[in-house]
Amino acid sequence: MSVLMHGIGMTSQRTRERLVTRLREKGISDRRVLDVMRVVPRHLFVDEALASRAYDDVSLPIGYGQTISQPWVVARMTEALIEQERPASVLEVGTGSGYQAAVLGCLVEQVFTLERISALVALARERMRRFGLYNVRVRHADGYNGWAGQGPFDGIMVTAAPEDVPDELFAQLAEGGRLIAPVGPRDAQDLVRYTRRGDQLQREVLDRVVFVPMLGGTR
Ligand code: SAH
Repeated sequence: MSVLMHGIGMTSQRTRERLVTRLREKGISDRRVLDVMRVVPRHLFVDEALASRAYDDVSLPIGYGQTISQPWVVARMTEALIEQERPASVLEVGTGSGYQAAVLGCLVEQVFTLERISALVALARERMRRFGLYNVRVRHADGYNGWAGQGPFDGIMVTAAPEDVPDELFAQLAEGGRLIAPVGPRDAQDLVRYTRRGDQLQREVLDRVVFVPMLGGTR
């Protein structure tokens, strides 16, 4: 066991169990999702100085003006993506800390995740390697273009907020596939799920959420 995995109180099973209880109280019911949230070590996806708050149900800063999503949001989006049929391949736009990608990596065969900030890409890659998540591929690119060589995807999860979902992402969504995204302006967005039925996209609004904006270009 790695030295990071044990010892300190905030990583204790009891602390994580408390988070899972919170998520249940807030309406998360998918056992598969709750089981994964219990085991993925969120404290290793934030700066050490914030580790003591890693199992609180809050978003936290990860540098570069970005945040790691609130656990409830991660659970809600994951649940909405894998409900009924579990997708085999998932594209995530907005790797950030890599936490959401790691959660997905425990549930589906293959995860492709895109991040526009190179420093975050390097950190996320390192974390995937450390956790032995070899089914998560992290790429430094602008998510507005999706990941053309790897699509179409059974699931797409956007974890930064666009004003509108880019057409290119819909183009990379497989038949029957689902795309989950926070859509709208800076201060608050609708969490929307689209399901592809032929040329049609069925649209459902699931919740209200607050995400950092989706921005074009890389840095
Ligand atoms: N899923 C992340 C949280 C995402 S925060 C986690 O679990 O930690 C949103 C991330 O989206 C930020 O890191 C931001 O840099 C990234 N982002 C914003 N616009 C993007 C774009 N066009 N392409 C790729 N990544 C983008």
